Amino acid sequence: MKNGVWTLAEQHEGKLKAVSFELLSRGRSLADKRGAKLSSILIGPVLEEEILKELIRRGADEVISVQYEELRYFDSETYSAVLETLIRGYEPEIILAAATSMGRTLMPYTAVKVRAGLTADCTGLDIEEGSGNLLQTRPAIGGNIMATIKTPDHRPQMATVRPRSSRPLEENPEREGELIRFSLGDTLPGGGKFPALREDRTRVSGYRREETGFANLEEAEVIVSGGRGLKKGENFRLIREIAGKLGGEVGASRDAVDRGWISYPHQVGLSGKTVSPRLYIGAGISGAIQHLAGIKTSETIVSINVDPDANIHKVADLAIVGDVFEVLGELKKRLRNEE
Ligand code: FAD
Repeated sequence: MKNGVWTLAEQHEGKLKAVSFELLSRGRSLADKRGAKLSSILIGPVLEEEILKELIRRGADEVISVQYEELRYFDSETYSAVLETLIRGYEPEIILAAATSMGRTLMPYTAVKVRAGLTADCTGLDIEEGSGNLLQTRPAIGGNIMATIKTPDHRPQMATVRPRSSRPLEENPEREGELIRFSLGDTLPGGGKFPALREDRTRVSGYRREETGFANLEEAEVIVSGGRGLKKGENFRLIREIAGKLGGEVGASRDAVDRGWISYPHQVGLSGKTVSPRLYIGAGISGAIQHLAGIKTSETIVSINVDPDANIHKVADLAIVGDVFEVLGELKKRLRNEE
């Protein structure tokens, strides 16, 4: 079927990454508005059918896959040759990928080949009434405004989406859909054929796990963040202790990072990380729009700020108006008593 909405699934070591499901929730609402089919595209190694079915249970109508051992690791030239063939065959209307290192490489590379528009790092997506164009919203001019971009004259409309900026749909065991698998010799609906997986100009000699020890904020279930209200860098010790006791990670506002109190990988917000923990505690943080942009999909937000009018209190599920040292000190005491 032509002109559907596509989302690109990602895998790592044979397991689907969470972003694959986040994209499906975005894709589902766009496909429903367009009355179109939602397809999840998987290019990678051979995965068990049961793994692919999770994409259906999380919102896809079908999974279109090209699976070969040689596709286990992402390589932009090979992946984009496969994706380009699929696009020419099916002529989808919209393609969404995550703004991960794979999505940020594959999408522009492929967009140029198929002469499509591409909006990177979107935080909002919608369908324009009447025209049916994809409305792609992203921060612009240094994050000071939100720009909405559309691509009326070219198809497909391609966009990358910030990981963790949407929640996956609940798994629905009743959902059924088609699993379509292509082999390299196959001809596609449009008549195109897959290119052979050619020998690349580069040779992969192995992969090494990242061992930087940096905070994995995007995956954290609990984050305790500190801001300028902590007064000085040493006071992040209190934040680290509480985060440690709660089994969480340490986050920070940009102000705290700019002051050198903590390193950039801990920064949460528009120019830092977008997070989606079950519990986010913001301590001594005012709640500037750029900070809130990174925490809005958190399940529960607790704010601690002396100023009753602080912006962060407005988005908090539990707003504590008080001195950060008193409140965190008390919390520390109670957590110690529970040990
Ligand atoms: P402040 O705004 O100074 O707030 C400190 C808060 O601490 C105040 O509300 C105060 O009431 C409270 N406080 C003071 N003492 C106490 C106490 N004893 N107990 C409790 N509360 C106390 N910011 C980010 O965080 N992340 C980003 O990714 C980011 N990206 C940006 C991108 C752009 C393009 C721009 C222009 C800005 C960006 N910013 C970002 C900066 C943002 O606008 C704010 O300047 C920053 O978030 C403020 O940090 P803060 O809340 O720690 O400091």
